[in-house]
Amino acid sequence: MTNPSLLILAGDGIGPEVMAEVKKVIAWMDTAKGVTFDVSEDLVGGAAYDKHGVPLSDATMAAAQEVDAVLLGAVGGPAYDDLDFSVKPERGLLRLRKEMDLFANLRPAQCFDALADFSSLKKDIVAGLDIMIVRELTSGVYFGEPRGIHTEDNMRVGINTQRYTEAEIERGARAAFELAMKRDKRLCSMEKANVMESGILWRDVVTEVHADYPEVELSHMYADNGAMQLVRAPKQFDVIYTDNLFGDILSDCAAMLTGSLGMLPSASLGVPMANGRPKAMYEPVHGSAPDITGQGKANPIACILSFAMALRYSFDMGEAATQVEAAVEKVLADGARTADLMGPDGGTPISTTDMGDAIIAALNA
Ligand code: NAD
Repeated sequence: MTNPSLLILAGDGIGPEVMAEVKKVIAWMDTAKGVTFDVSEDLVGGAAYDKHGVPLSDATMAAAQEVDAVLLGAVGGPAYDDLDFSVKPERGLLRLRKEMDLFANLRPAQCFDALADFSSLKKDIVAGLDIMIVRELTSGVYFGEPRGIHTEDNMRVGINTQRYTEAEIERGARAAFELAMKRDKRLCSMEKANVMESGILWRDVVTEVHADYPEVELSHMYADNGAMQLVRAPKQFDVIYTDNLFGDILSDCAAMLTGSLGMLPSASLGVPMANGRPKAMYEPVHGSAPDITGQGKANPIACILSFAMALRYSFDMGEAATQVEAAVEKVLADGARTADLMGPDGGTPISTTDMGDAIIAALNA
């Protein structure tokens, strides 16, 4: 049997720093679990632009299509802010998502007990929170045509088009129902069927797909109410399925329930490959954090939890994923904190490397 393969694109800023800690977990999989990954590494974002003049080379794109999963750190930074739009670091990320057709973006919002005080909401509202937002990632208003700015009657007009086919809604819905089946079997679909035709179609298609998942309890909610419910009583949700635009906003809103950007993983999944594994890219939600780059202050947990998602969703190694998540929970419960997790009471933060080492120590305990 061939080894599972990973392409690491650490990117810019703190990307390589947090990815260095993920590599320790990959090594732990080898020594403790006997699972050896074939790991290759390449450039993305500003680092790729510096070398190739583009934020993602064709060769790297081709390599990403071949592997079982891509692990991405972060892209961007002040040195690249003035580049032409077509070669900005973020274009590298968008190219990966588009050409790999990663249509389901999984954004968990989980509140570790030790960090419940970090949320802007009251502790009892967020303690034990564990929800999963599935955002449709490759269609909707960010891609629909016509789009642009033109002039009508001496007045500028900006246009974007919300457009969804039933096939696009359906494949994301199936991903969301499948996830719900592995969790608490509850799915809430969010749209604006009260004011948008695409929302009416969304609701219809999700209801049709539900017929194949009778064990899952399906509910529908207008996305604006969803935003209110997420801050009022977020624990009412298990899996949420929503479109690209609403998902962008609702997943960031849910993310903040949990405290720090440095804690948030994500997965983007596409259609299954010949070996049955979905096309997949895993990345922390945070950016390249130029303000703390090179200072050993970055929290590697978001990137490590992204790798745990890869274990679960690409490699069917749910048990190992749970072990990694439990190790993170343990070091936090024991009081280990990077600078972003320091509360008002102060304390001494540990470095990026120390946090990675503590997680490995907990895995080995
Ligand atoms: P950011 O996420 O990089 O940083 C926001 C704040 O959170 C900063 O104060 C940063 O220090 C802190 N932070 C982020 N990750 C952290 C971590 N792991 N540990 C500790 N603190 C952390 O967002 P930004 O400052 O708006 O953007 C900086 C650059 O990153 C920009 O070039 C932006 O375009 C890019 N960006 C990239 C991605 C991505 O690669 N997916 C996402 C967002 C932003």
